[in-house]
Amino acid sequence: MNPAFVNFIYIIASILFILGIKMLGKAETARRGNIVSSVGMLIAVVITLFDKKIIDCSDPTSWGLLAGGLAVGAIIGAVVAKKVKMTAMPEMVALLNGFGGLASLLVAAAEYYFDSVKGQMPSDFSKFAIIATIFIGGVTFTGSVYAWGKLSGKISGKAKVYPGQKTVNAVVAMLTIAASAVFVVLGDFQSGLGTMIAVIILSLLLGIVAVMPIGGGDMPVVISLLNSLSGMAASAAGFVLHNNVLIVAGCLVGASGLILTVIMCKSMNRTLSNVLFSGFGATGSKSQKLDGEMKPMSTDDAYFVLEAAQNVVFIPGYGMAVAQAQHAVKELAEILENNGAEVSFAIHPVAGRMPGHMNVLLAEADVPYEQLKEMEEANRILETADVAIVIGANDVVNPAAAEDKGSPIYGMPIIEAYKAKTVFALKRGKGAGFSGLENGLFFRPNTRMIYGDAKATINDLVAKFKDK
Ligand code: NDP
Repeated sequence: MNPAFVNFIYIIASILFILGIKMLGKAETARRGNIVSSVGMLIAVVITLFDKKIIDCSDPTSWGLLAGGLAVGAIIGAVVAKKVKMTAMPEMVALLNGFGGLASLLVAAAEYYFDSVKGQMPSDFSKFAIIATIFIGGVTFTGSVYAWGKLSGKISGKAKVYPGQKTVNAVVAMLTIAASAVFVVLGDFQSGLGTMIAVIILSLLLGIVAVMPIGGGDMPVVISLLNSLSGMAASAAGFVLHNNVLIVAGCLVGASGLILTVIMCKSMNRTLSNVLFSGFGATGSKSQKLDGEMKPMSTDDAYFVLEAAQNVVFIPGYGMAVAQAQHAVKELAEILENNGAEVSFAIHPVAGRMPGHMNVLLAEADVPYEQLKEMEEANRILETADVAIVIGANDVVNPAAAEDKGSPIYGMPIIEAYKAKTVFALKRGKGAGFSGLENGLFFRPNTRMIYGDAKATINDLVAKFKDK
């Protein structure tokens, strides 16, 4: 195929990727953005198959194998995407990042292997691209699988730290870099293959040891960083294969993932190095003293308080997503407004299990955008709020982050629910937050626990207003 034509089509595909990413920035256009990017990818894949003569129409084994692989992959992808619950999306994203890294690693390793079979030693630049792909892809794969384990609860979400861990991690990282450098300078295939296998093993190990000391509360940052790394691995693979559209697509994922990582770090009030190396959340707070007791309240009594409230702030968290309570919450908010109360929703950037999780759920329930308040504004409103209704939120309202210097989460910005005159905490029991820390808010004198599934509790309150 004419290279100018192929590159022209690649530019169109790249424009579709960029438009798609832009559209993902708003809830109303996000679905269309996904479709636009997917069309771009389909165009890129089809043109590559023909350009690189991967499909030879006269040879059924060439397209038969490809069609078989595509069908198996597409069926698995469609079934998993259909079945996955909204609350399990971050785990799925973690796995997809990981497989992206693994795919890049396999492509680069295969490319070197086939070069060796043909006896064509790649240039130093190609060797650099191959080993960079393997290095980043390997770290991304095992790091993502480990993160998936933490997010899905298969591995404890707490940071795992042990004495000398930083030294061990530094040694593994240095060995991987050193082996990668040796690979680039080596001149013969035999030792090149051996070194490549060493880099594969070391990078896989590095992914695990790097994610191990990162606590559950920092998982949003880690997921977006791994997402960025999967893009960088794909981009490096683009250099290995001399494929422009893969370089562009990988760069887009790498750059947008990095921007998201920085935003997430800022919203957690942390630096990236602090997230990666501090072992944040490894232990509970030593100075955390949870005085008082959790005081339960019935929905009958809660109804009377809400009936008289003038200013109510809803603080949604992961539990609202689990309970799928957003529609019930919207209904209660409307009832309270009609009852004369001012209603707002306090949104923490890492509430739930994925960036924008609460915004997506509340948009799905048609909660007016003007009622959603970002953290700073919400905290101002909370100073004069009559009632703060915490719906399955925990870590994002933990006052230890603001008040307890000994707490592992000290310094993380939170929604200051404790400032409201009365706090209703809706949760099923005494479970800790994602970070594994106890929450002093639930022991405060102005907090009342309303136990039960959040949707059932809110529906109960709605029914009481309707029956009055
Ligand atoms: P948390 O995970 O800290 O707490 C959720 C609370 O919801 C639990 O304490 C649980 O208590 C309660 N809950 C669960 N199910 C229900 C239900 N059906 N009805 C009522 N309550 C329920 O949530 P937050 O949103 O406060 O914090 C998010 C955490 O997740 C942060 O630590 C964040 O760093 C992390 N994270 C965020 C990501 C993101 O991108 N947003 C990604 C990965 C992690 P009980 O069991 O007693 O009911």
